[in-house]
Amino acid sequence: MSTGVSRTPIIILNDKSISNLYVKREDMIPYSFGGNKARKAELFFADYDKGGYDYVVTYGTSHSNHCRVIANICAGRDIPCLIVSPNEVSDTTYNSKLTRIFGAEYKCVPVEEVHDTIETELNRLRAEGHNPYFIEGGGHGNIGTDAYVRCYDEICEYESLSGIRFDYIFFASGTGTTQAGLVCGQLIHKDERHIVGISIARKNPRGRQVILDSIISYMDANKYPYSVQDVDDKTVFIDDYTSDGYGADNAEITDTIREALRDYGMPLDSTYTGKAFYGMKEYIKKNNISDKNILFIHTGGTPLFFDDLENRL
Ligand SMILES: *Cc1c(COP(=O)(O)O)cnc(C)c1O
Repeated sequence: MSTGVSRTPIIILNDKSISNLYVKREDMIPYSFGGNKARKAELFFADYDKGGYDYVVTYGTSHSNHCRVIANICAGRDIPCLIVSPNEVSDTTYNSKLTRIFGAEYKCVPVEEVHDTIETELNRLRAEGHNPYFIEGGGHGNIGTDAYVRCYDEICEYESLSGIRFDYIFFASGTGTTQAGLVCGQLIHKDERHIVGISIARKNPRGRQVILDSIISYMDANKYPYSVQDVDDKTVFIDDYTSDGYGADNAEITDTIREALRDYGMPLDSTYTGKAFYGMKEYIKKNNISDKNILFIHTGGTPLFFDDLENRL
């Protein structure tokens, strides 16, 4: 596991319809197929190391990139890892196969029992003399937010080195932690630009409210000044392209994935990056955005691309 700052390349895509489209390849973080969960995990384990812990407990479905990365780090460091997982999404995927290879233990329960099961398992481990470290599903929380404040710093650094300034930043928004970090970065840098999260499942207003709460929690915890109005103005969460919810795709998304693979040699998946890339293109069309510099953040999920390759491409 690398320590220190993750740095990922920003490259231009010679897109046929959008002339200044760049992508920041978070999928190329050099650990466990990368992605935003790898960037977040780096900071969670730095925190783990401070606390005298000896066990990791987290939550996620059998599709979870987060669980794969956490289980991989645990395996490499000989830390036992328990994953509480909902029965409702427990089919075999590349992520679940990898997670099992890493020796993580899955505890599958009905989704409504997840919350209590996490509590019960943490208490059981403590009673057995362990000191478990709990990581929220998807790496949600201030530590996960911090990872994307740092990513925002990298984007600013790229801009000052290249002289290119991004007017828009798009990406797949799930728990909203990635988005919260980017918006916090923007508030800290006092930048004016559009940060647009494309929801892959959640709907407004709840999905957006979770992001607002994450931003305020992070700014408060780090004593950064902000205005609630500014936080509100800068949080754009688009729920027009969720299809029928988490994991649900459609023919347009499949076409988008095929095109990105053929045109730029870049894997996207139908749950996150393919959906967001499709949503970004539609949003740009619908709002007549032209002559702007656009950055798409590729948030990872390469094992999900291979599930798609087998099942729907
Ligand atoms: C988890 C995930 C997201 C969503 O990130 P959040 O911080 O939860 O919003 C986007 N893309 C991929 C590939 C992911 O694994």
